[in-house]
Amino acid sequence: MADDLPRSNVSAITRERAERIARAHACENCGEYSYKRVIVKPATDQNRTELNEVWHAIMVCGVCGMQTELGIDAEGDVVYAT
Ligand SMILES: [Zn+2]
Repeated sequence: MADDLPRSNVSAITRERAERIARAHACENCGEYSYKRVIVKPATDQNRTELNEVWHAIMVCGVCGMQTELGIDAEGDVVYAT
């Protein structure tokens, strides 16, 4: 629809796009991309300010079961992974 949104708009990337980025990130433990659960939610105000994070993803690996957390910024880059 509207392609003329200002670049500073915080919804520059959608939740769907953030989820795709999260799923494209290999498991930090085993290197697989098979997640059994991916939850993407808006970053807290604190994380938004301190880490420049817009979306916060929590993923559970379907292979080794490790939980990974990702911060994704407004341009779709992963700012950290734990
Ligand atoms: Zn894994």
